[in-house]
Amino acid sequence: MSRLAGKVALVTGGNAGIGEAIAKTFVREGAAVAITGRRPEELDRVVREIGPHIGRVIAIAGSVTDDGHARAAVARVIQQFGVLDILINNAGIGEFGRRLHELDDATWARVLDINLTGVFRMTRAAVPEMLKRGRGAIVNISSIASLVGIPCLSVYAASKGALDALTRTIAIDYAKDGIRCNVVNPGLIATPMAAPLMANPEQLDPILAHYPIRRLGKPEEVADMVLYLASDEAAWVTGGTFTIDGGMTVW
Ligand code: NDP
Repeated sequence: MSRLAGKVALVTGGNAGIGEAIAKTFVREGAAVAITGRRPEELDRVVREIGPHIGRVIAIAGSVTDDGHARAAVARVIQQFGVLDILINNAGIGEFGRRLHELDDATWARVLDINLTGVFRMTRAAVPEMLKRGRGAIVNISSIASLVGIPCLSVYAASKGALDALTRTIAIDYAKDGIRCNVVNPGLIATPMAAPLMANPEQLDPILAHYPIRRLGKPEEVADMVLYLASDEAAWVTGGTFTIDGGMTVW
């Protein structure tokens, strides 16, 4: 199948976890994909695994905290592939295990800078290219932490809650321009971010007890949902919040 044939996508944080699965799924479905992230060696690994010979994947090292990187990444995509159809704002960091009064200002600012302001920067850089052609699809990767209360996640939950709200505004502001924007809210997914938890059954088991489908999600399962939202199959879908959580938030 080629559900993204001819499309060009930019996936932030495409060198690990959910972003890596999205990049691989998109290439399989016919898209040209640019991946970003701070660690060049992990970017190179993903490009190698996809197969550099197919000529439809490039890596751009940098941080979403750097507006120069955001603009340069979009410019590189245009230089390489000519257009930008899809932006996946996936890059993010966790901040788990501490209550609010235990957080310092630097931690609070860092999480918001990456998880929220990073999306602002990347989207601001990408939208003009989408406006030029009157089409585009943006998918933001949020979390169920924006939808239900989870202990010791204050700044992470705040960053993702704001991301959900931002998604709705982007959807409304650009609908008339042919640009759609949706947000995906995963539950616990088996990625490097969740690795410390996965290595500790005493912590993991009580968490999984909150999941009707009693296992972690797979990055590829999130990628399949993102694939739908990024594709033309979702042409009438914008501003939506899409949970993928093994039923956790409806228990
Ligand atoms: P990982 O830690 O496995 O991967 C995070 C990715 O983000 C990496 O590619 C990392 O690359 C990149 N990244 C982090 N900071 C920056 C930055 N400043 N600039 C550019 N890239 C950055 O996490 P997941 O794959 O699990 O998470 C992906 C998204 O999914 C995140 O937004 C996360 O909040 C969300 N999510 C994850 C869940 C889970 O249980 N795993 C559940 C719900 C949501 P590098 O380090 O090289 O910069």
